Amino acid sequence: MHESDVLVVGAGPIGLEVAAGLKGVGVSYSHVEAGQIGATFGWWAPRTRFFSSPERLNLCGVPIPSVDQGKITGEEYQAYLREIVRQFGLEVRSYRRVVRVERDGDAFVVRTARSLHGVGGEKELERAQAMHDPAEGKGGEEYRARRVVLAIGNMHRPRMIGVPGERLPHVSHFFEGPHKYFGTRLLIVGGKNSAVEAALRCRRAGARVTISYRGERLDEQRVKHWLRPEIEWLIEQGEIGWLPHTVVREIRDGSVVLNDASGRSAPTVVETDFVLLMTGYVQDPTILEAFGVALEGPERRPAHNPRTMETNVPGVFVAGTACGGSQERARYFIENTHVHADRIVRAVTGTGLPVGEPEFGSLEES
Ligand SMILES: Cc1cc2nc3c(=O)[nH]c(=O)nc-3n(C[C@H](O)[C@H](O)[C@H](O)COP(=O)(O)OP(=O)(O)OC[C@H]3O[C@@H](n4cnc5c(N)ncnc54)[C@H](O)[C@@H]3O)c2cc1C
Repeated sequence: MHESDVLVVGAGPIGLEVAAGLKGVGVSYSHVEAGQIGATFGWWAPRTRFFSSPERLNLCGVPIPSVDQGKITGEEYQAYLREIVRQFGLEVRSYRRVVRVERDGDAFVVRTARSLHGVGGEKELERAQAMHDPAEGKGGEEYRARRVVLAIGNMHRPRMIGVPGERLPHVSHFFEGPHKYFGTRLLIVGGKNSAVEAALRCRRAGARVTISYRGERLDEQRVKHWLRPEIEWLIEQGEIGWLPHTVVREIRDGSVVLNDASGRSAPTVVETDFVLLMTGYVQDPTILEAFGVALEGPERRPAHNPRTMETNVPGVFVAGTACGGSQERARYFIENTHVHADRIVRAVTGTGLPVGEPEFGSLEES
C-alpha cells in the first residue's frame, strides 16, 4: 500500500503541473498515470502542431524552446514534458490505471491495474478486449490518500455518430497521419479544426478529399483563422470536395449515404475508399462516478468549486481539461487551466486565494 497526503491521477501537462506545485511546497503525494506521461499526445497524428502558441503551453514557468518561433508539435511537447519531469524530479508511476476506489475513514483507497496505454486514442477502444489479457490484470497496486486530484483529461473516446457501418475497418475516428490516404478517395466528416487540418494534410499528401459537414459553411468560431483561407480557397477551386448541410446516414464498404441535413432533398451516395469521422471526443466518466463526483448539465461536467477545484466530494479535486466533461464546444484548454495547479496547492495547504484574486465564477477563463 502506497500512502501519501495526496494522490494525483493523470500525468498530462496539468497533472504534472499539479505534482510540481505539491512537491514545491513539500506536500507528500503519489502520482499515477495509465500510460506514459503526456499519453494524450501519443495518439495525435505524427507531427501535428498545437493550435496554442508555445508560451501558452509552458509549465511551471519553464519556456518551451521553439527553433522557428512557430507552433510546436505533439512530439516536441512530449520531449518538453520529459524535461519537466527530470528538472523538477517528479516521480510518476506510469502504466498504472485507476480502476477502483473505496472509502477508508477520511481517506480514499485507490486501486490501480497494470495498463498498457494511456486513457484515450484508438487503443482505448480495444481496452475491453485488453482487460481479458492476463497481463493487464497483473501488477495491481493500492494507494491510500486523504485527497485525490483527478487530472484525467476529457478526450477518452470518440463521439460516436451512431450509424450503421461506423465500425467498418476503413472507417476511423482517429487521424493517424496523411500517408495512409495517398492516392485514395477520403471522405472526412466534420467541420472544425481537426477535420479541416486533416483535410489539408491529406490533400497535400495526394488524397482526393471530400468534406461532409452538417453546417452550411465552416464555422468561423471553430476553425482557426490561419486555416480558413486555405481550405476555403481549395474548396472554391474544387481541389477539396465540399458537401455542406449533410449528415451521415449509413457507411458501406466503398460508399457513404448522406442525408440532406434539412431533410428536404433525397439522400446522396458518395463513393469513397476511407472515411475519417472527425466528430470530437467525449470524457469517460467512470472514475469520476466511482468517487461520487456529481456530473452536471448536458456535457456532464464534474461539479466543482472553481476557487479551490474541489468537487462536491470533499477531498476530491479536478484539474485541467477534466473539468470540462464532454465538451461540445471546447472551453478548457491547457492555457486556461494552468491556474488549477495553484488553486489546488492553495486549497490543500489551506492558504486559499490571496485577497484581490478574482472571485468565484469568473475564474474559469482566466
Ligand atoms: C489534434 C489535437 C490538437 C489539440 N490542440 C490543442 C491545443 O493547441 N491547445 C490545447 O490546449 N489543447 C489542445 N488539444 C487538447 C489537448 O490534448 C488537451 O488540452 C491536453 O492534453 C489537456 O491536458 P490535461 O493535462 O488536462 O489532460 P491530458 O493531457 O489528456 O492528460 C490526462 C491523463 O490522464 C490519464 N488518465 C485518464 N484516466 C486515468 C485513470 N483512470 N488512471 C490513470 N490515468 C488516467 C491519461 O492517460 C492522460 O495521460 C488538442 C487535442 C487534439 C486531439
